[in-house]
Amino acid sequence: MSRSVRTRPGASGRALSEAYDTALLDLDGVVYAGGSAIVHAVESLAAAREGGMHLAYVTNNALRTPDTVAAHLTELGIPADAGDVITSAQAVARLIADQVPQGSRVLVVGGEGLRVALRERGLVPVESADDDPVAVVQGYGGPELPWGRFAEASYAVARGVPWFASNTDLTIPSGRGIAPGNGAAVEVVRIATGAEPQVAGKPLPPMHRETILRTGAERPLVVGDRLDTDIEGAFNGGVDSLLVLTGVTDGAQLLAAPPQHRPTYVDADLRGLLTGQPEVVEADGGFRCGGWTATAGGAEVSPGRARSGARGRLELDGDGAASDGLRALCAAAWTAAGDGVCELDGGKALARLGL
Ligand SMILES: [Mg+2]
Repeated sequence: MSRSVRTRPGASGRALSEAYDTALLDLDGVVYAGGSAIVHAVESLAAAREGGMHLAYVTNNALRTPDTVAAHLTELGIPADAGDVITSAQAVARLIADQVPQGSRVLVVGGEGLRVALRERGLVPVESADDDPVAVVQGYGGPELPWGRFAEASYAVARGVPWFASNTDLTIPSGRGIAPGNGAAVEVVRIATGAEPQVAGKPLPPMHRETILRTGAERPLVVGDRLDTDIEGAFNGGVDSLLVLTGVTDGAQLLAAPPQHRPTYVDADLRGLLTGQPEVVEADGGFRCGGWTATAGGAEVSPGRARSGARGRLELDGDGAASDGLRALCAAAWTAAGDGVCELDGGKALARLGL
């Protein structure tokens, strides 16, 4: 399937909550962070739901069950049922069930979310390489996962038992900093065995398929904070996406995004669901959005710096809402980059926007 390269954020005359039937919301950095709701999330999601938009929560974290996640959301003031939560544990369980007979034993390295998802697909979780598993699956196991679990997985994988991973996010945010994620745990077994797992989670197709199967979405909008999981997953699934700036992505990363990481829409936070999205238009040799115009400037040559090493700059003029300025900058950067990565320096322009 060929896709045209996106060179500017999209426009929507209608509120996104009306233009799309289902929001496929990432959790960490979008809905909550470190256990608390993100600013404007609770009231924005309530208003989107009242307007008729179906809300589903899509997470690469395989540790917690949908019941636990839904209870957490409800406690934060975001009413949710287990059926509204889709996890990478469910996606990997389906991926395994498609390849092995019903009732097969699967060696689990991970948490309760993974065990529940396997049972739901008629598979039997086992704990030892000596239990004759026909598959090995790894999902995030939390800080209490014993090191010996990796040895069990390695023994079985080294014998040639098919190996699966819920996701390969290398890190996981915690209230105290950045911790090793399931991707780091997968690397441990990879180093020990030299094998390669089949992976289900965002940005890969099994997760997107699980989400569409469970929500029945016809016009879904992926809402996320991460370019290489949420936005790339939407790109791979051929659906539109909204990037919010409440999580791990900053303005500089967005401007430097390669085509598969460029979201359809950009907004500061989840209030963006409730509004239309302004058009970015070509004007004055650059791109205008709201009160801002962004242009790709030539290289400045400073004394002592070789001309070949000089780096061009993104310029920003005007004033108005910061998100409009960012949309104009995205258009200038992505147009300059084409199907590559923008190397223009956007630092000064982003600083003007406080980003
Ligand atoms: Mg996230």
